[in-house]
Amino acid sequence: MRSVTQPRVAVIGMGWVGASVAISSLHRGVAGELLLNDINSDLAEGEAMDLVHGGLFHGDISVRAAGLAEIAETCDAAVITAGRGSRPGETRLDLLSANAAIVGSIASHFRGSSTLLVIVTNPVDVMTYVACGASGLPPRRVIGTGTMLDSARLRQVVGRELGIDSRSVHAHVAGEHGDSEICLWSSAHVGGRPLRQWEGWIRERELSCADEVRRAAYEIIRRKGATNHAIGLVTAELLRGILKGERRILTVSSLQERVAGVENVALSLPTLVTEQGAERVFTPDLDEDERTALERSAGVLSSAIDALETAG
Ligand code: NAD
Repeated sequence: MRSVTQPRVAVIGMGWVGASVAISSLHRGVAGELLLNDINSDLAEGEAMDLVHGGLFHGDISVRAAGLAEIAETCDAAVITAGRGSRPGETRLDLLSANAAIVGSIASHFRGSSTLLVIVTNPVDVMTYVACGASGLPPRRVIGTGTMLDSARLRQVVGRELGIDSRSVHAHVAGEHGDSEICLWSSAHVGGRPLRQWEGWIRERELSCADEVRRAAYEIIRRKGATNHAIGLVTAELLRGILKGERRILTVSSLQERVAGVENVALSLPTLVTEQGAERVFTPDLDEDERTALERSAGVLSSAIDALETAG
């Protein structure tokens, strides 16, 4: 790894999400140098030029377009957002196969590299699995943003319900970043008190909050065609945690040898994130419903991997 005080960070895929990751990373002071890549090289160059013109406001961090070979050789961390959304008439598996081909081909440039990979492309858990295999990197060096965004949404929704700042709400979403994700209500707490002991906190509120969190992306995409700002902020926060050695515990996705009775699947659990990557994964205390839901979520992801491998 290069100087940790001035890390070099790349963003690969400069669409909606890549552009937001880049600007949020500049605002959070994550990198000393930012390298941008897109299969459409004009797009990467144009974004770099645009961001350079804001140098006065982000401390003159160097921003430029770069190729994958240079990124894999010199970057401390690279964020993969390259991929595409679904097209009319396409199955989920079609999208899965298309994005797996893109992420797999990008990740293969990182064989033997010391760059840490952060995966954002959806479906992010399966893409984390694919990037691990294609790059050959140690699994802890490939981290998916996973349910970090969902956990942020959950804390925001619960905070709004209680009229308390979301930073004082401690709650996690685990499992798949997707429909089978699990809000871990049994371990959620606010001000040192379990959320379930808060006055007026009833099961119906859990169901409606979980539904709002699960549906958030669909609601945004229906209105504006993509989600980008929150995932940009989340990714910059993750990069900061890694590169500044903050040793934070975050719900990110990483390859698990065995989880909830399922082998070789990437999903999110609270994870100690360090300069080394996903250093240690914690299985939180789960109640019966949560344990069953985590097994189901791991099964959904395992089936998606099987379908992808059968199709390929
Ligand atoms: P987009 O279509 O706006 O951008 C994708 C970009 O990837 C395009 O600019 C395209 O040219 C580029 N690209 C395609 N193939 C490439 C390659 N081989 N090398 C380099 N660049 C390549 O899409 P978007 O809205 O930015 O979304 C990107 C991905 O992020 C999607 O898969 C989306 O579902 C995902 N996403 C994930 C989360 C999350 O929480 N993990 C949140 C939001 C979006």
